Amino acid sequence: MELMTTYTENNYPIIVGDEALHSLLKLTHYQHYIYIIDRRVMSEHSSKVNQLLLQPNLIFVVEAGESLKTLEQYTEIIEQILSAGITRRSVVMAVGGGSVGDFAGFIAATLLRGIDFIQIPTTILAHDSSVGGKTGLNSSAGKNLIGAFKRPAGVYYDLSFLTTLSYEEKLSGFAEVIKHAMLESVEQRQKLEQDVPSSSELNQLKNMDYWIMTGIRRKLEIVVADEFEHGVRSYLNLGHTLGHAIEFTHKIPHGHAIMIGLLYMEILSGRNPVLLLEWFKALRLPLPVFKDFHCYYDLMKKDKKNNDENIQFILLKDKPCMEHFTKEQLSEAFDSLMSLLGVD
Ligand code: NAD
Ligand code: ZN
Repeated sequence: MELMTTYTENNYPIIVGDEALHSLLKLTHYQHYIYIIDRRVMSEHSSKVNQLLLQPNLIFVVEAGESLKTLEQYTEIIEQILSAGITRRSVVMAVGGGSVGDFAGFIAATLLRGIDFIQIPTTILAHDSSVGGKTGLNSSAGKNLIGAFKRPAGVYYDLSFLTTLSYEEKLSGFAEVIKHAMLESVEQRQKLEQDVPSSSELNQLKNMDYWIMTGIRRKLEIVVADEFEHGVRSYLNLGHTLGHAIEFTHKIPHGHAIMIGLLYMEILSGRNPVLLLEWFKALRLPLPVFKDFHCYYDLMKKDKKNNDENIQFILLKDKPCMEHFTKEQLSEAFDSLMSLLGVD
């Protein structure tokens, strides 16, 4: 399955399925291939990864996760790349999930003022993160606060990588699938729940190719309309304002935190969150030991999208919309979330 972005220029292909890696091997026009590869993927899929290596190359096998998205890791790897004497006709190839994609994309965006970058996603979550061109690192002040917009030159997504994901990582990626369905319509979210009502269907990746393609199409529509997030792109932050603060505080998988953020969003939107919670329970969503509201509030205040006084949230009313909330309103909604989740 091949999609092409529909920007006015500099479009890139998104190739999903068995043909992805075969197509990748046709990219023979670069002078150097700089691979940044998730160590786990390298060990679980060594023959597949070895098949996709073009020459001449530099290979960095990295530990995935938020600890990769740091200035220290960035400095270490970019200095090694530069000392190898690469040129602007080189390409960075990201083989892994969202953390590898965000990190490798930021390297490509800044190396010699920007060189090409290819995404080779290996997680469900990366159906979201590999498309749209946001790259970046974390700061001690919060997640993704250092970054750049950098369109990939292509996304090559072989779904057979997904079979080795742990259930925890499947669920984390599925959160973004749920988000895309919720942004689309009530019917779409219900259809997704009918298809994947509980952890056993998710664990078998039931219909996941369909839902991944649907999510990619949805994301593309939005990022092509508003690449630099002046308007509709901010809808993709559904569930993310509290979600990022929870992820950062508890160091839990991105999507698990986003699911908690989606429940909070339902409360702020004035909707009944109970049905969504029942589904999340059937999907075996783990909960952290929550902290005081102020911990999350301080992090949410640092979000890139706030005005000075209040915090911006994306809500679902009849359709997606944006509203600002005061500290008191947010604290009250947080109390409702805690009682919904049965936390004292
Ligand atoms: P990840 O890259 O940390 O991968 C999660 C875990 O899965 C890691 O332990 C990794 O080693 C393992 N893994 C990867 N592929 C595997 C495979 N095929 N088999 C077995 N294990 C595998 O995280 P992620 O969940 O893919 O992405 C989360 C990151 O993406 C966060 O940093 C988040 O901020 C970022 N993100 C970015 C965007 C964007 O638009 N740029 C959007 C959403 C999320
Ligand atoms: Zn996300």
